[in-house]
Amino acid sequence: GGTKLSPIMRINKDAEDFYHRVLLTTKAGERGMQYTKKRQLDSNTLEHFKIGYAPKEDNVLITYLRSKGYKDDDLAQSGLFVQSQDGRLFDRFRDRLIFPLEDENGHSIGFSGRRISNDKTEAKYMNSPETAVFTKSKVLFHFAEAKKAARSEGHLVLYEGYMDVIAAYKAGIKSGVASMGTSLTDDQVYMLRRVTPNIIVNYDGDDPGVHAEERAARMFSKDGDFNLGIVVLPEKLDPDEYVRKYGAEKYQGEVKGALTPTDFFLKRLAQKYNLDNDREKITYLDEAVKEISHVKNPVEQDMYLEKLSRSAGVSLNSLKANLARERRKNN
Ligand code: ATP
Ligand code: MN
Ligand code: MN
Ligand code: MN
Repeated sequence: GGTKLSPIMRINKDAEDFYHRVLLTTKAGERGMQYTKKRQLDSNTLEHFKIGYAPKEDNVLITYLRSKGYKDDDLAQSGLFVQSQDGRLFDRFRDRLIFPLEDENGHSIGFSGRRISNDKTEAKYMNSPETAVFTKSKVLFHFAEAKKAARSEGHLVLYEGYMDVIAAYKAGIKSGVASMGTSLTDDQVYMLRRVTPNIIVNYDGDDPGVHAEERAARMFSKDGDFNLGIVVLPEKLDPDEYVRKYGAEKYQGEVKGALTPTDFFLKRLAQKYNLDNDREKITYLDEAVKEISHVKNPVEQDMYLEKLSRSAGVSLNSLKANLARERRKNN
């Protein structure tokens, strides 16, 4: 709309356009372009996410923005530059693929840059530092766009990485968001809730990813009024790798088959015990019933008990007796 943007927002916007143009139209951008091909990013995707490239030199952006008339005082506050001892400004992002970060109205507020060289001594991802307009804990990548898609898709999908949001988008799921490489915050949970109670969590299928899903599930459950689905991908794949390996259709199937939090926790629990050992099995069943006792909907609770009874080969009545005992403890 017609609101006037602060200098720092205008600087970020101009930087976004600049990096995007460098990637798409310049000789310096060819290196970045090669990397986008390697990651199978088509021109549609580059456009939608406004992906860009920051060249190797340390003075390309600063020179451009000064030529547009910005003052060094404002440029220094933008987060886009590092300052030397003697106060001179240098481009922070160098030789990186650039992912613009936006606030919930789609205004450019910062960047994340992915290393494209093989130099493992450099961090794989680098974010803008906190500025007057960028607070990491209150930003979700792709949130402004995902909000719109949530209306037709009926949910938001939470990912671990930017490339996962992008892969999902290519695979037809446009309601993906990601936190800034940090664990989920209460502010972000609240942002999601304002859009929809229907949240699907699809972190990486590796151990850290599944642990982070457990943590996220507890956070959403604490709030009570979420309808949560959890996807655990096979072979420790992340969503981007899964889509590459199995294609869009299979990936959509994984999302449709998201587990309820209770099913997710029960499945995790079953993996922790050796169920051929009777004593371990008894502990497992106690823990499983404890988990089920937190389910508020009685019909849903019955469903889990029946499933557990069938899979463990114990009578439904004994599980129900266990549950009653557990309920007395809860109260
Ligand atoms: P890619 O597919 O490009 O390797 P990824 O998203 O699969 O990236 P992960 O290692 O799974 O990368 O990390 C998930 C997220 O954590 C990243 O998208 C990024 O936001 C953040 N992240 C990872 N490594 C770093 C790092 N060295 N510094 C800051 N953030 C990081
Ligand atoms: Mn990961
Ligand atoms: Mn990953
Ligand atoms: Mn990845």
